[in-house]
Amino acid sequence: MEPKLEAYITLVCTSVVLNLSILVYTYWKRHYYTNIAKLFMWYTLASLIYCFGYAFSLTSTSLEQLRFWNIVQYVGLPFFPPLGLLFVMQYLGYKLERKRTIALLAFPFLTLIINVTNEFHHFYYRVYDIHSVLGVPFSKIEHGTWFAVHNIYIFCCMFAALLLLLSRWKETVSVYKPQLLALICGQLLPIVTAFLLFIGVTPDGIDPVPMVIWFSSVLYLWSITSSRMLSIMPIAKDTIFNNMSDGVIVLNGTYQLIEDNQACKDMFSKLDRSMIGKPFDQVWYMLTGQSFPVQLDTISDKLNTTIHQAGYIYQLRISKLQQSNNNSGFLIIFTDITELHTLQQKLEHQAYYDELTQIFNRRAFFQQSEQSLMKAKSNLSSYTIILFDIDFFKQVNDTYGHQIGDQVLVHVAQICKAELREHMLFARYGGEEFVLALTGFTLVEGEKFANHLRFCIEQKPLVKNEQVVLVTSSFGVSVTTGAMDETIYQLLRKADEALYAAKRAGRNQVQVFTEKFNFVE
Ligand code: GH3
Ligand code: MG
Ligand code: MG
Repeated sequence: MEPKLEAYITLVCTSVVLNLSILVYTYWKRHYYTNIAKLFMWYTLASLIYCFGYAFSLTSTSLEQLRFWNIVQYVGLPFFPPLGLLFVMQYLGYKLERKRTIALLAFPFLTLIINVTNEFHHFYYRVYDIHSVLGVPFSKIEHGTWFAVHNIYIFCCMFAALLLLLSRWKETVSVYKPQLLALICGQLLPIVTAFLLFIGVTPDGIDPVPMVIWFSSVLYLWSITSSRMLSIMPIAKDTIFNNMSDGVIVLNGTYQLIEDNQACKDMFSKLDRSMIGKPFDQVWYMLTGQSFPVQLDTISDKLNTTIHQAGYIYQLRISKLQQSNNNSGFLIIFTDITELHTLQQKLEHQAYYDELTQIFNRRAFFQQSEQSLMKAKSNLSSYTIILFDIDFFKQVNDTYGHQIGDQVLVHVAQICKAELREHMLFARYGGEEFVLALTGFTLVEGEKFANHLRFCIEQKPLVKNEQVVLVTSSFGVSVTTGAMDETIYQLLRKADEALYAAKRAGRNQVQVFTEKFNFVE
């Protein structure tokens, strides 16, 4: 055997051995890897068959043997570039639809059939013979039409895979860059070799691609073992990233989306892989129809905020990712706090509103009236308190029942609420007692408003189950001018005294506080 031929066979056999080792290794470890390992194994198997067939074709001693091993090669050769493309697509996170996969693999299948049946139509090889000068195992080939089509196809597949990998270079975090580089080189090498063959600068009569495939295989093997290409990234992503209940978004230093997790997809259903690499502002607009509420370039380290989006409330935690003083990107974490917020609001409501009448309770009244009184004092404006109590309410309960009594309370509260003007504070003060605080009202104005309410209540009895429940109330009014330094408690005591006077004077009337009440006491 010629030393040159021996060298060729050695190189091709190296490819066979290495591809076989990778295949066995990946198969043996397949349980540690995710689905991506399956495609990688098919890819390796295809290149293994190609190299295996070519290794044996170089040991052929007749045209028949040469042709037989040529066909064996074609069981792998047309498949490995599209399988490589599919592997790269899956590695980069593209969703592999069944239709797309079948379409990509249908073409090499056709090539295999056309090659196998070449003797009937010569569509693949116009001439397939022993090399007239070099003899067996070198072949003399004149290419047919499908040969050209097939070559264009496998070039496109390898080139597409290469472009996809290159397009990710910038946004890939440095820890994953060696994996990406190995894949890029692994794709680039067969392209360059096939191109050299195409322009005719490789030795005559041989196919150099299987001889260099071993180098791609070494790169993949290195990637798998050293940077654990098939395990680290998918496992980290699947288990930590995608099982978080918080939505996570990762942006690179130029505000482009480079990663998102399952929780984020659940929160924003329009989010898909095609948005990867797009500026985040644009992505957010596509998701929500609005611009992102936070100006990312103003964040120096961390930011915590709350946003309202499509009926949901999210707590947003944004952290700047820094690597050796460079802005390497942003981590945005979305926590759905809608339920928590609703509960908080409910508790707040319960703390400040009366459960039955849904108007302010006593606690809210004191809190707010103290503030409004202080404000009135500082503005030197008058401040009026109206306290009123339903007349003979015990009788209402006794006659109609406690339930109707409750409804009377709601009814009275609603009548008064409808008469309220801006900045009037109205609350349930106790059982069937209500209170109003009016800023800027003089005693006369306060008395007039109290009379108006009294009239409204008297005029609108509660009609329930064909029963008419007549209700009247007694009112006490007190006032402080800006010049006096009275507290809300003093004002309430005075209003209560006036209310007591109204009760004594026959009920269903308004009494204003005068110093004579003190005298009576
Ligand atoms: P007057 O004020 O005219 O002197 O007579 P009154 O019958 O209204 O007197 P009183 O203030 O002594 O009675 C208030 C009654 O209101 C006693 C209590 O049972 C009833 N009451 C207090 N809170 C509620 C409530 O939330 N629902 C109902 N149905 N009754 C209540
Ligand atoms: Mg009463
Ligand atoms: Mg009472």
